[in-house]
Amino acid sequence: MPGELTTAIGAIGDPEGVREMGLEGLPGVDQVIPISRPYKLASSELSHHAPTTFEVDGRRVGGGETFCLIAGPCTVESPEQTFEVARAVAAAGASMLRGGAFKPRTSPFSFQGLGPAGLDILAEVREETGLPIVSEMTSADLAERFAETVDMIQVGARNMQNYGLLEVVGKLGRPVLLKRGLSSTLDELLQAADYVLKEGNERVILCERGIRTFDTAMRFTLDVGAVPWLKLHTHLPVIVDPSHASGDRRLVGPLSRAAAAAGADGIIVEVHGDPELALCDGPQQLYAEGFERFAREVEAHAGLLGRRLA
Ligand code: PEP
Ligand code: MN
Repeated sequence: MPGELTTAIGAIGDPEGVREMGLEGLPGVDQVIPISRPYKLASSELSHHAPTTFEVDGRRVGGGETFCLIAGPCTVESPEQTFEVARAVAAAGASMLRGGAFKPRTSPFSFQGLGPAGLDILAEVREETGLPIVSEMTSADLAERFAETVDMIQVGARNMQNYGLLEVVGKLGRPVLLKRGLSSTLDELLQAADYVLKEGNERVILCERGIRTFDTAMRFTLDVGAVPWLKLHTHLPVIVDPSHASGDRRLVGPLSRAAAAAGADGIIVEVHGDPELALCDGPQQLYAEGFERFAREVEAHAGLLGRRLA
């Protein structure tokens, strides 16, 4: 491509190969500009890729026509507590139940979750309510147990760059919910997704859950712009977690509606029968009692973009 002052030469193919040629610094070479993206499999540039859409036990994710409402307690605390929330969110049209059994807590002295007993409770609740289960897997050692019990495996923000874990999760072949790291760029999120995709598992949902910024007014800062940006740059479905982003239930409604209006494929929110007594993240959990109203408001906003609840 001859220009007035310089001639540009375009090379198509593996950018690694181009890098290894060491062109930069050769006589006549002004600069080498990589124009392909660092993320490969998650990229919407991938020529064969229409937006990824799949079902989790009959609930459609991605594809632009449905909105998935994932709701449930931060942590599974008891069968009664989990059943109460599950019934409330199922009645309001939630697509899936969330609930942590293994919790990645900042302090080792905080409640770490019920562990395997928590998974047993989730399995029971699934059986009775028919809601597919989303739960976080914190270690590769738990792979078999999770593959048996959990419909969608969550990789938490703190493990977004745990590459060994991502590969193990990729091999399990279960749908994966990959949360953005606390201080991770969107490029890094998409490269993390590539770790799962390269194992042949295409059923990956990305989740914006708030990032660290200079502002400490809220627990994290919800990056709403991440939703349309990701929609442009990746074929994977994108959801938002307004609960961990804000840390405050009073903000969860507005942020959920913003996510829906920005084009998210869904949200994942925390709900508890009695948040004041919750063992983890009480201030951000919605009251199960008010969930129906919350769901209708979010549904209306998703409807603005022609989506209905999955
Ligand atoms: C969670 O969803 O339970 C959780 C711990 O979220 P995050 O990894 O985004 O902090
Ligand atoms: Mn939580």
